[in-house]
Amino acid sequence: MTVTGYDFTGRKVVITGGGSGTGACMARHFAESGAHVIIAGRRKSTLEAVAEGFDTIYPFVCDVTIEKAVADLFDFAEAKETTQSAADIVIANAGIAASAPLDKTDRGLWDQIIAVNLTGPFLTLREGLARIKAAQCQQGRLIAIASMTAKRAYPYISAYAASKHGVLGLVKSAALEVAALGTSGSESEQKNITVNAICPGYLDTEMTQSSIANIVEKTGLSSKKAAEKLHSFSPQKRLFTADEVAQAALYLASPGASGINGQALSIDGGETW
Ligand code: NDP
Repeated sequence: MTVTGYDFTGRKVVITGGGSGTGACMARHFAESGAHVIIAGRRKSTLEAVAEGFDTIYPFVCDVTIEKAVADLFDFAEAKETTQSAADIVIANAGIAASAPLDKTDRGLWDQIIAVNLTGPFLTLREGLARIKAAQCQQGRLIAIASMTAKRAYPYISAYAASKHGVLGLVKSAALEVAALGTSGSESEQKNITVNAICPGYLDTEMTQSSIANIVEKTGLSSKKAAEKLHSFSPQKRLFTADEVAQAALYLASPGASGINGQALSIDGGETW
């Protein structure tokens, strides 16, 4: 039995945004469960720091907004040992956050958020699915880390909320496509692929520290008060942890979650459903 209680021996995982926060936490959990894990992000140093001490975590520098870079990431993954495919578990986690009132959201900010948070998951999940199908993996798992703002919104985050709402549309449509695979009775058609989203509330990660700093700068509130404001959004009045997201990802990637498809799993203390 592994420390996480899951056994992903012989499985290969690609995690974008694996150099920090939630992505780094998921990478460690999957590696501790026996998987080989490829982590991608733009900063080599943070990726290498996550991989340190693990001989089954492999860093790869990649900007998820660039189509060729995402293809290169999966080529790199394919060249790694274990499974025959590039990856049979793909987690589109890379994301950025920024806030501004709609009438002050300039085209540059909008384009940047949509590129990383929506085009990034599109390129990652599309390439991941193509590789899973090409390798005829026995099981395929595609997961997008969306947000509770994929289901509801707050003021001043129109670009971010739009990008995360978009991710849910991507996940739901792709889920119906993979569900249809293998239903015609043809032996060559692949079964057992799922596509799901995880929708966390505010997390205790670097991204939220930046959001708190932003509230302090714009409102003059103390850091403590700004943090309390973010806590207040959840019925549980707290931030959520990368570990809670990682636990959900382990479960969705496990064989026991084969029937869970097209879902948007909230980890927000009951704020959304
Ligand atoms: P972090 O800022 O710690 O992690 C985001 C990661 O994405 C970084 O490692 C960053 O690495 C990577 N990244 C950003 N842009 C790109 C890019 N263009 N190409 C490749 N990698 C990129 O934040 P979290 O761990 O909190 O966020 C993880 C996910 O969870 C995001 O999708 C976020 O939207 C979502 N989320 C976060 C919440 C929160 O409160 N923090 C709440 C709900 C959802 P690098 O800069 O090196 O590229």
